[in-house]
Amino acid sequence: MSSNMVALQAKDRKHGVSSTLSPKEPEGILLVKPKDNELKEFEANRKIILDILQTHSPEARLRGVVRIFGGGVKLIDASPDDILAIKNTLIEHGEKEVMDKFDLITPNRRSPQFILYNVPKEVEADSLKDGLLAKNIFLADGNNKPHFKLEFSIPGRDRRSNHWVMSINPKKYEDFLSKEGLYFQFTRLRLAEFISVKQCRKCYAFGHTTRGCDPKNKQLCDKCGETREENHRCKGYNCINCSESNRRLRTNHKTDHSCLNRNCKTPIRQKDLVIERTDYGL
Ligand SMILES: [Zn+2]
Ligand SMILES: [Zn+2]
Ligand SMILES: [Zn+2]
Repeated sequence: MSSNMVALQAKDRKHGVSSTLSPKEPEGILLVKPKDNELKEFEANRKIILDILQTHSPEARLRGVVRIFGGGVKLIDASPDDILAIKNTLIEHGEKEVMDKFDLITPNRRSPQFILYNVPKEVEADSLKDGLLAKNIFLADGNNKPHFKLEFSIPGRDRRSNHWVMSINPKKYEDFLSKEGLYFQFTRLRLAEFISVKQCRKCYAFGHTTRGCDPKNKQLCDKCGETREENHRCKGYNCINCSESNRRLRTNHKTDHSCLNRNCKTPIRQKDLVIERTDYGL
């Protein structure tokens, strides 16, 4: 799984809550997904949804209406409360036979994640979990229910160790953030917040992996961004993500690099989006 993830650590946020995060409320998101093949047309589905809102919630102010996989529609609003109001309008006022053909999904917010560095390779998830609980009281509640869940490991630099990524209880975020490490056996393992940005290796967009890519998408060239067919004649560096950002968000990024380049500027915004989607228990 780690091969199509760019891992970014939130070093800058180690001490307290950053400005990106502070009182800013998270956006609200509603996915309207067609249940079957009958309603595969994004434009038609978009019209169905917007017509209902136009008639019954003309005051609704959407920030975005975006095409998703399979003809579905993603609605973005200023806050989870706003989006809930929209969802209720659709359920209440949409024709039942029509709305029954869609799933209305409000995606869960992400739990904060932390990475624990250099765990000896032979230590497996269960013994790591037990070992951590034995030496760090704050990791569990009064009933010994852990505030964390080990998610996956990625190979460490020295081959003898793994780094482990864990999701944590959002209410305990400040506690985790204040620890520089966790005790395990007779050592202390370094701990840091972990924010991963997924990048597809097929279309090079962010937010999904190769497996989650629309099958209709063609393999692109990471250098010039054009379809990489046989006999591809590369036109040279042109980062599609920076170009798109310049066009849509009026940024001023350089574009003469591969979209896999470590210095590409777009993952920074992607990281902010991940932070916005994270439940920090505030
Ligand atoms: Zn893709
Ligand atoms: Zn190319
Ligand atoms: Zn770029």
